[in-house]
Amino acid sequence: MNVRVVARYRKAVSYGIHALLAALEQAGTPVEIGLGTTPEETAALIAEPGADRVLVLWSFYSPDAEAMAAELAAVRALADGDHVLHIAGGVHATAEPQHVLDSGWDLAGIGEGESTIVALAEALRAGTELKAVPGLALKDSDGVALRTRPAPQLPLDACRSFPTPRRHVGPIELTRGCRYTCRFCQTPFMFGGQFRHRSVGSVREHLRGFREHGLRDVRFITPTCLSYGSPGPDADLGPVEELLAGVREELPHARIFFGSFPSEVRPEHVTPEAMRLLKKYVANDNIIIGAQSGSDRILEASGRGHSTAPVRDAVRIAVEHGFRPNVDFIFGMPGEEAEDQAASLRLAEDLVELGARIHTHTFMPLPGTPWRDADPAFIPLETMRRLDTLAQRGEAYGHWRRQADHSVRLAETAKAYPRRTKRRRAE
Ligand code: SF4
Repeated sequence: MNVRVVARYRKAVSYGIHALLAALEQAGTPVEIGLGTTPEETAALIAEPGADRVLVLWSFYSPDAEAMAAELAAVRALADGDHVLHIAGGVHATAEPQHVLDSGWDLAGIGEGESTIVALAEALRAGTELKAVPGLALKDSDGVALRTRPAPQLPLDACRSFPTPRRHVGPIELTRGCRYTCRFCQTPFMFGGQFRHRSVGSVREHLRGFREHGLRDVRFITPTCLSYGSPGPDADLGPVEELLAGVREELPHARIFFGSFPSEVRPEHVTPEAMRLLKKYVANDNIIIGAQSGSDRILEASGRGHSTAPVRDAVRIAVEHGFRPNVDFIFGMPGEEAEDQAASLRLAEDLVELGARIHTHTFMPLPGTPWRDADPAFIPLETMRRLDTLAQRGEAYGHWRRQADHSVRLAETAKAYPRRTKRRRAE
C-alpha cells in the first residue's frame, strides 16, 4: 500500500520530527513525506490523492496538549477518512497515553520514536496488525489504552538527528537521557536515567555536507553539556575537548554553540578550566546555568544533586571568563515556603549584581515526573512584583506567568487521570 507520512511541523517540536524523518530515511522505508506548517497545510497534505494510508505525526509538550487537541479537531474537520491515522508522540503522549487517546488521537507513541515510526510505516504498507508495532498505545473497544511491547532505547549513534538532504538541519543531539533525578524534569523519565552520548565520529558524520550547503552554525542538544563523555556526575573535559576539536577539524569555519540554548551547564561543572576550554572553541557569548532555587532545602527536596554554593561560584567564574550567564530559576516548587522564595529572590538579585540574567520559570507538575501529582507552592503577589521588576530592568526573562496558567491546567489533568499502577498490554 502507498503510505504518506504527514508531520504537523511546528518550530517548538521540529527537532523531534527531524529525528523521525531521519529514522525513516535510514531504514529506507518507501513512504511519501509531507510537512504541514499550519493546520490548513496539514489538511491539504492529508487530502492529496494518491495514498492508500495517511499517517499524521503530532508531537507536543504537556502544556500544549489542550491547544493541540483543538487543532487536531480542526484538521479532522478539513480532511479525514478511514485511511487516515493520527498519532501523537513525545513526552506528553508517553506519560499520558489515555489522555491523548481521549483527546482524539488514534494512537499514542510511547517512548523514543525511531523504531516505532519505522515499524508503524512498514505495518501500514503491509496492511498488518498494529499490535505488533513496538511503542504504541492503541484503543481497545472501550477506548482504554492498550500498550504494545516497549520500543527499545537505541544507542544514540544509531539515531540521526536530521535527515541527510539537510533541508531540515537543526542541532545535533549529543546526549540522550540524564543520570540526575530532578523531580520536576521529564528527561530521565522519557529517555532513561543514564547518559547515552553520541560519539565524536557520529557528530562528524552529521557535519559532513554542512560545507556544501553553506552551513556553519553547529548547535547541540544535551541536558548537561559538560557531562559529555562522562557516565557519572563529574565533568570530564577530555571528551569535551575531543568533541569540540573534532567539530573544528571537520568544519574549520564553524561557529560552535555549546552551553547555550538548546544545551546547558550544571553549576558545579563551571570551573576556570572548563570556561577556558569553551572560550577556545565556542561562538556563544552566554551560557545557561541551572540553579532552580536559592533554598538548599528545596534543592535537596527536588533531587537536584547540588546546593546553592556552586551557583554563585559558577556565575562569578563564567563572568570572569567572558560569558554572560543566564541562570534558570523555578518558583513555586512543591513545599516552598515564604523563606525559600525569599532565598531564591535574594540569590537571583545577587547573581544579577554579578552579571547574570535570570531565566524565570513557574513550577509545572509535568506528567511522568515524580512531582506530577504534587501541589505547586503559592507564589505571593510580592514575589511576582519583584520578578516583574527584574524583567522590566532587562535582568530577567521567561514565560513564568504563562507557566502559572499551565500549572493549573496540568494539575486538573493529573486529577482527572489518576496515575495507574497497572498498564494493560495489547495481546
Ligand atoms: S533538570 Fe537537567 S540535570 Fe536535572 S534531570 Fe532534568 S535534564 Fe537532568
